[in-house]
Amino acid sequence: MKLDVKMLRYLSSEDFRVLTAVEMGSKNHEIVPVTIISQIANLRHGGVQRCISSLARRNLVAKETTAKYDGYRLTYGGYDYLALKTLSKRGAVVSVGNQIGVGKESDIYVVADAEGNQRVLKIHRLGRTSFRTVKNNRDYLQGRKSASWMYLSRLSATKEMAFMRVLNEHGFPVPLPVDQNRHCVVMELVDAFSLRQISEVGEPGKLYAELMQMIVRLAQSGLIHGDFNEFNILIKEPGIPILIDFPQMVSTTHRNAEFYFNRDVECIRTYFRRRYQYESVLYPKFTRDANREFSLDVEVAASGFNKKQQKDLMEYIEANDDEDHSDCSEEFVYESDSDDSADESEASDANSADSTPVDPQSAPVDDDTRKLTAAVDR
Ligand code: ADP
Ligand code: MG
Repeated sequence: MKLDVKMLRYLSSEDFRVLTAVEMGSKNHEIVPVTIISQIANLRHGGVQRCISSLARRNLVAKETTAKYDGYRLTYGGYDYLALKTLSKRGAVVSVGNQIGVGKESDIYVVADAEGNQRVLKIHRLGRTSFRTVKNNRDYLQGRKSASWMYLSRLSATKEMAFMRVLNEHGFPVPLPVDQNRHCVVMELVDAFSLRQISEVGEPGKLYAELMQMIVRLAQSGLIHGDFNEFNILIKEPGIPILIDFPQMVSTTHRNAEFYFNRDVECIRTYFRRRYQYESVLYPKFTRDANREFSLDVEVAASGFNKKQQKDLMEYIEANDDEDHSDCSEEFVYESDSDDSADESEASDANSADSTPVDPQSAPVDDDTRKLTAAVDR
């Protein structure tokens, strides 16, 4: 979904009030009845109907008719508006530049903060592609409003921020976290290409060792990235990897921790074998190398991303995990640590199902940048 910055330009305070009322109402109603919207917005008679029609025209809310009542639901556009308005008030995002990535479950933009610093805005969009299939699965959704796209996208962003903070504080090479609101995360723009995009890495062996060390260091801190692949590793200078993309991270106490750890390792092994014809007999194993020395998993949980949130999000991620990892899991036949053999089959080079990134340098926030400051009525 595109971020329609134009529609952010102007919204009257009454429209904004009604939009907020729809968001509040959706905590208890998938489709918010007009009567509830009116009650929450508390505008004079007739005001709500006019505002809601105007919001619907701009695709910030969508009308839905149920058997029992007419109502509205917030759209991604409406949710984007509310998040950007908050981030803009805080000065974290005052203008939005080019889109530099379209992940399956995120949109990535270069943005600028109040001081003119370039940042990355990651908008989490869970449910955009695969939620429809999940939604079809009645068992999954039955009576569980917690599975809504809004809730899951917000959880994903909250989790990303919580992990990025803790990792950053403990010296892991990750982007500097800046701010988060609803489904949006603002972070440092890393001036680098992903490992996938660069063909020259200097000495592959050195980078390979560096990446394996990172996986081990994470595990020794109680954490597993869970999607440690060439798209989620940015190479700042030859040999200096920066890790991104944290919504699927798990604790080493997770029931499938060994599987996730070994799959991360195998992703890197496979990539280096295919891309650089580099193979080493040395690679970390969960049972031998993941000896906990610190408990960053506990620290993250204490920082506000609680067990229930982790469980709700992981249920969704695990339900969609298979297709997400077609790249490496296709040829990664999980074998327990007691067995040294790894699957050596050479599948054809996988396509980027992950993101379509471009050079951040070619996507500067320039004078033409659409101003959010003007857009939102403070
Ligand atoms: P997804 O969850 O959709 O995979 P990612 O966080 O991996 O999202 O980001 C997608 C792409 O956007 C990355 O592969 C990278 O090219 C780019 N990107 C993301 N975060 C940054 C950042 N902080 N700095 C520079 N580029 C980034
Ligand atoms: Mg990614």
